[in-house]
Parts: sequence; structure tokens; C-alpha cells
Amino acid sequence: MHKIDSHTSVCGLLGYPIGHSVSPAIHNTLAEELGHNMVYVPLAVEEKDLGCVIAGADGWKFPGMNVTIPYKEKVIPFCKELDPFAEKICAVNTLVRQENGGYKGYNTDAPGLYRALSEEGMDPSGQEVVLLGAGGVAKAIAVLMVEKGAKRLYILNRTLEKAEKLAEDCNRMAGCDLAVPMALSDHQKLTGNGYLAIQATNIGMFPNVDDVVIEDEDFYEKISAGFDTIYNPAETVFMKKCRAHGKKAVNGLKMLLYQGVIAYELWNKVSVPEKLTDQVYERLCEILGTGKEKM
Ligand code: NAP
Repeated sequence: MHKIDSHTSVCGLLGYPIGHSVSPAIHNTLAEELGHNMVYVPLAVEEKDLGCVIAGADGWKFPGMNVTIPYKEKVIPFCKELDPFAEKICAVNTLVRQENGGYKGYNTDAPGLYRALSEEGMDPSGQEVVLLGAGGVAKAIAVLMVEKGAKRLYILNRTLEKAEKLAEDCNRMAGCDLAVPMALSDHQKLTGNGYLAIQATNIGMFPNVDDVVIEDEDFYEKISAGFDTIYNPAETVFMKKCRAHGKKAVNGLKMLLYQGVIAYELWNKVSVPEKLTDQVYERLCEILGTGKEKM
């Protein structure tokens, strides 16, 4: 770790509680390798203190912070300005200090996912996409699918009302009936094939590693590839099933990596070289004990 002195700038992760997070490893490795005098620390903040912590960070001139559960929406009233995408999805995961003080809110989860998808040859433009889930991350993904020109978006969720609300929002943005809400249990009603499937529920996440959002083998026959937003375990049952049907499957670790890299780039106004992102990716695999995922 580099020397901490009176010039060291501080960035951090706002959340509550903050359990184990790999974000410090992403940002501290980047700072170290790029020679930036910056440290990144977890900042567990109770909700009643959120406003004064952000004002304090502004006073200390923290260049930026990440925001995690449960504050991605709650942080919005404390933002001086919002990036249009964050405004659309009402979720901020990155705060960037502005020249004259105050923070602008961004969402780097969706661009992080897009970079990961593109790298894996899973670009959603012109594709029929099946999105499993309608929670916070699914919302960002759904809006991303509209922006990137998916041909059709099927939103499947356990709670149908949430899928309906999300589809309605997407269709309003798209100006056409692009999104179709469905109950998760109705997945057999998907009659086409070649869908890009994006898994955005909590199902299958450590420690419930034997769970899978859709058991039915027929579903995996109908898809062209599967992206699981979960990164622990490195290979979820969802991914195993995709692969068992000869389909490409990717986990969410690169999405996590890139949302961090994009935040780092916004704070430090730099472009992180690809070689370094690969190095950070390997570091994350080591920390998670997952081994580098074969693609
Ligand atoms: P969230 O807002 O709590 O949403 C959870 C989603 O999972 C909802 O759609 C929920 O359905 C569904 N769900 C939960 N338990 C279920 C069950 N037993 N049966 C059926 N559906 C169930 O969570 P989130 O923040 O969107 O996170 C979702 C996933 O994204 C997590 O797995 C997380 O690890 C992953 N994630 C990845 C990254 C990354 O960078 N790779 C970043 C953030 C999150 P209902 O609406 O019916 O409750």
C-alpha cells in the first residue's frame, strides 16, 4: 500500500450494513498501480446520518463514493445533480464530486454490465432478451436493454406486479410495446428460441448455491446464451444448465469489475488500461477463491 499523507484523497463505499465487499480491492489496486494517492474505504452509515456524511465528505473533498444497499435510491435527494441514466432508473451507485462542490449521481451497474456483455459477444441490440427478475439490478438492466435497442424484452418475475410496472416504464421510454411482463412460473409460454437470458434474481447466490431460478431444462434449450449477475459462486446452477445445453454462460464478476472501473474513471478522470483491468479481475478471483472463470 502506498504512503498515506496529507494529500491522500479518500473515496469510499456507503452502505449499511457493509458486509464483505470486494470494492476496496478494486479501487485500491487501481490506485496503487496507477500511482494515484487515493485510498478507498468501506463507510458503514446509518440512514439517519446519510445526509450529514455526504455533506462531510464534500467538506473533506472526497472525490467520490460508491453507494450500495440500501441507499441506491435514498441517496438521490442528497445529489446536486443526476446523470440522465441514473435519473431514469432512480438508482445511484456512484457519487462524483463536482468542481464547485456537491455530488453528481451516476449509475455504473448498467454500463458495467454492458461492457461485460459486449466483451463476451452478448450484445443485446437487435436481440430478444429474457430478463429474470424485476428488482433493483433488473430495473437498471431493463432500461439498458431499451437504450441498447433490444428487439423484445421479456421481464419474468415472481411478483408479476413488479414485472408489469417495469415493463410499463420501459415501454414508455421506448415509445412502443417492447417489454412484455410475465410471471416467472409462466416461462413455458416463451415459445421462440435464441433468447439472450439475463439472470438478475438472488437465486443461486452463496450460500444457496444449489438453487436455480428456472429448473425446467426446456428453458435452456430456447436460449442462445446466459448471463448471471451473480458472481459468487463463480458457476451458478443457472450457468451449469446453460452450459449443459451447449450455451455460453458468463457470471457477474466482470459486471462488478467494470462498474468499479467506470466509477474510478469518473473520480480520477482517467482511462484505465485493459491490461490493468485484467490484473484486477485476477485479484478478485483470488479474493473470492473462485479461480479465473473459463469463458
Ligand atoms: P433485489 O432488488 O432484492 O431483487 C431481487 C430479485 O430477486 C427480485 O426480482 C425478486 O423477486 C427475486 N427473488 C428473490 N428471491 C426469490 C425467490 N425465492 N424466488 C423467485 N424470485 C426471487 O436485488 P438486486 O439488488 O436487484 O440484486 C439481484 C441480483 O443481482 C443479486 O443476485 C445480486 O448478486 C446481483 N448483483 C450483481 C451485481 C454485479 O455487479 N455483478 C451488482 C448488484 C447486484 P420478487 O420481486 O418477486 O421479490
